Amino acid sequence: MINLETPRKQAGLIDQAHQLAMNMLRPISRKYDRAEHEYPKELDMLAALIDGVSETGATGGAGAGGVRRDERAAESTTVRNGANMASALSIAEMCWGDTALLLSMPRQGLGNSAIASVANEEQLERYAGTWAAMAITEPGTGSDSANITTTAVLDGDEYVINGEKIYVTSGDRADSVVVWATLDRSKGRAAIKSFLVRKDNPGLKVERLEHKLGIRASDTAAITFTDCRVPAEDLLGSPEIDTRSGFGGAMATFDNTRPLVAGMAVGCARASLDLTRDLLEQAGVAIDYDRPAQSQSAAAAKFLQLEADWEGAKLLMMQAAWMADNRQPNSLEASMAKAKAGRVGSDVTLSCVQLCGTLGYSEAELLEKWARDSKILDIFEGTQQIQQLIVARRVLGLSSAELR
Ligand SMILES: Cc1cc2nc3c(=O)[nH]c(=O)nc-3n(C[C@H](O)[C@H](O)[C@H](O)COP(=O)(O)OP(=O)(O)OC[C@H]3O[C@@H](n4cnc5c(N)ncnc54)[C@H](O)[C@@H]3O)c2cc1C
Repeated sequence: MINLETPRKQAGLIDQAHQLAMNMLRPISRKYDRAEHEYPKELDMLAALIDGVSETGATGGAGAGGVRRDERAAESTTVRNGANMASALSIAEMCWGDTALLLSMPRQGLGNSAIASVANEEQLERYAGTWAAMAITEPGTGSDSANITTTAVLDGDEYVINGEKIYVTSGDRADSVVVWATLDRSKGRAAIKSFLVRKDNPGLKVERLEHKLGIRASDTAAITFTDCRVPAEDLLGSPEIDTRSGFGGAMATFDNTRPLVAGMAVGCARASLDLTRDLLEQAGVAIDYDRPAQSQSAAAAKFLQLEADWEGAKLLMMQAAWMADNRQPNSLEASMAKAKAGRVGSDVTLSCVQLCGTLGYSEAELLEKWARDSKILDIFEGTQQIQQLIVARRVLGLSSAELR
């Protein structure tokens, strides 16, 4: 049975992540928010530490690259808290430090989660140590990812990729990119496959970096692929076009990555709540957990409401990660977690700016930055509206053609 207490065996990892966030990310947070596009070199040492934690295997994965469904869990009769739970909880802690820096962590890109989710054992071994970005979005295709136009055509023992991808997180700094492309547009979503493309491939070109509202320490690139040849064995998963399984293969990634993005929102919102509580207390507003909210000051009541909403988001995140660890289908729960946490993240961080007034709005504190940073967590990996659509389809038993 599911137990939504923080798993005891992961307490050490979570504490370690919190210490790293507090001592290594927070101190450089403002610096790299201002120095957009400058690589945070301090992350190299931190990434080496995370590699070390993940390699011990003791905690089952300490970052975005750690997610993988353990086949043994299906046969096991005992419940497990494995790589997905460890990753979601440690990511939440790191985002308490800084979301953009977490997104910039070498070898922990969303492409690494895709590799961990869908690559076969031989590919996993071959790609060990790579830092992979994830490229789905195109100039004409965002939420409607089934309509992507980037093509991959088999030519001998290579695929030839042509197309343009935009808004690729870590697209400049990563050393490989997981690219979604269609093998045959006439076969619809079943023909969409993902490919690992190395950044030194002569057919790949980073065209520009974007300037953004938030997560400014994270680089976001537009990339073109022109007759970009990749070995056939760099197609992730099966090359078969199985129209019965629809989008299944490539989409399986989202079941693992959406709880992680929910974790990012949970961590960023927690940072805002912690600082706001301190600032309110300094201003003489005490928050009393033993008295009903309506009998306290308006500020305290609002804070308690925000915290309750945050708790709901965290529990949904843990449920989705737990189900992934225990090999239970979790597409519905992953979207519920992402929808709730994305919305709560934006609401909490902006409400904290409001509660703290001038201090909230000023660069003297990080509250205004967290309000800017959290917005993306309600947009990428599927927007709020798309998550709600997925939840509605699953609850009502309707297909994507029936409810759009
Ligand atoms: C900073 C940043 C980083 C990103 N990183 C990555 C990355 O690493 N890799 C990647 O592939 N992409 C990335 N993206 C792209 C992101 O995933 C897309 O922006 C997102 O999927 C939405 O697509 P869109 O921008 O084309 O908006 P659209 O799909 O055009 O949507 C616009 C609005 O319409 C709403 N909408 C769309 N369809 C429906 C519907 N059926 N019902 C109701 N409302 C609907 C959406 O919710 C949204 O509010 C990133 C974007 C940003 C801003």
